[in-house]
Amino acid sequence: MLTEDEVQGLKTSGSIIRQLLALHSGALAISGELDLDRLLQQIVETARRVTRSRYAALGVVGNDGLIDLFLTSGISKQEREQLGELPRGHGLLGVLIKEGKPIRIPNIQEDARSVGFPPHHPPMLTLLGMPISYMGRVVGDLYLTDKENGELWSDEDEWLTAMFANHAAVAIGNAHLYRELQQERERAEADRLRHTVILENLPEGVMVCDTQGNITLLNAIAERMLGLAVGGNVHHRTIATSHADGSPYDDRELPLSRTLAHGDHVGGQHIVVLQPSQGEAIDVLTSTAPLLDSSGRLIGAVAVYQDISHIKAVERLKDEFFSMATHELRTPLTSITMSAGLLAELVAGQGGKVAGLARLVDDSAERMRRLVDDLLDLSRLEHGRLTLYRRDFNLGAVIEHASEVIAPLAERKGQQLTVQLPQGGCRVNADATRIEQVILNLLANAVKYTPAGGRISLSVSNGEAETVIAVADNGPGVLEDDRERIFERFYRSKQNETGRASGTGLGLPITRMLVELHGGRLWLEDASGGGSVFRFSIPTAVES
Ligand code: ADP
Repeated sequence: MLTEDEVQGLKTSGSIIRQLLALHSGALAISGELDLDRLLQQIVETARRVTRSRYAALGVVGNDGLIDLFLTSGISKQEREQLGELPRGHGLLGVLIKEGKPIRIPNIQEDARSVGFPPHHPPMLTLLGMPISYMGRVVGDLYLTDKENGELWSDEDEWLTAMFANHAAVAIGNAHLYRELQQERERAEADRLRHTVILENLPEGVMVCDTQGNITLLNAIAERMLGLAVGGNVHHRTIATSHADGSPYDDRELPLSRTLAHGDHVGGQHIVVLQPSQGEAIDVLTSTAPLLDSSGRLIGAVAVYQDISHIKAVERLKDEFFSMATHELRTPLTSITMSAGLLAELVAGQGGKVAGLARLVDDSAERMRRLVDDLLDLSRLEHGRLTLYRRDFNLGAVIEHASEVIAPLAERKGQQLTVQLPQGGCRVNADATRIEQVILNLLANAVKYTPAGGRISLSVSNGEAETVIAVADNGPGVLEDDRERIFERFYRSKQNETGRASGTGLGLPITRMLVELHGGRLWLEDASGGGSVFRFSIPTAVES
């Protein structure tokens, strides 16, 4: 049989355990400053009651290392208000915080460390102080004073106080974590808002999707352009895409598909997008980049879409005007060149100023006609409107005719022009007039850019599938940096500035496009001994 005292003891310890459990779950559920205050207050109250102390207090250390929250139990509201300035941890509390060890003091008044008590603090004799430590750092302290009946603190009291301090530590730690989480959430939300504002105010459409093509982010411009929405999938779109020339885009070829399939960076691809809902085609410049995680694994793609319809519309207008103007110029120019030629012939015998002027008009009109012809060719080639009249013919005859035209120019500069044709002749399949134009252009350039007295040669190598024509000279050659640029329209090498050779920079681009239209290639080769070698290939005629 248990004695009355033992029964009482069991009841008391049962209720202590219940209180501890309640405090423990309270500490785990902390989700804010208010909750923390309330729970710490409960802890300090319970600790006082359980240890049968007259007074208990709990202090929490702030960022400056001093106590900035101080909760008390055992004094009335009024007494607390009269305390004056609350302790900040200079005296005994400071010792607790600094040393991080429990202290038991039988008489506070006689302890030298007991300074900094608030002026109207109730008088106290005995003290049990316990640091509150969280993850190895002292974050506060809990202390009890004046145990009932003047008893001294027992080991059990210290053990219980340590339990309460542990609960307080968990509660303070959780509150810290919660505060940090909250701040992190606020920062993330602010970032999200900032990104949204930036995204929505960009002039370009932006889309982000995962590797399956599920759209995770899309700004309003991209939404309008592509008729897609967040949550949708890029592979389930209703828009049609085509190349600038109208031929349909193979889905696998689209920049986004390439990035999602191979992780490629694709820059500035021109796509025509047709939205059935709007019925209008828009020109879009698309760039895509892979999204990688920290280990470099592909996790999606980001795509940027720039609506360039207005630029393309202006370009189309410009092209139309350009081809219309050159076309309109051509007819009167034909009459002018013919009349100027006749006039020059008529007055040639008279000599003197009139004949000189007539020759000048004739030469200028001829130059102008050539320029207008070049512009017309360029415009037709660029818009795929130049038709080739292909047939099998003997290239030798065309080359001979072209060299006859060029020979007087070479002679005038004292240059030596040699032509080497294959023994058995060579038949090619091409547009004879256009091939002559190509050869004339290359020969004329060779004469123009090679100094007086130089050597120019034309040779042919006749293969089964293709025939390669080479025009070489021993002139100054082309600067390394200009090798590809000379094939751009209107580009003229800086080298010419000293040579003062006249020209427009249209010859080589037209020549290359004409060759390519035949399915051949035109390139400039490194001439080991100086000078330039231009080569081009065209299909050899299939023997019947
Ligand atoms: P243009 O002769 O009217 O300037 P082209 O397109 O025919 O235009 O040639 C472009 C440039 O290429 C020329 O300005 C010249 O600098 C360079 N070039 C062409 N042919 C030769 C050559 N045989 N030797 C050196 N430079 C050349």
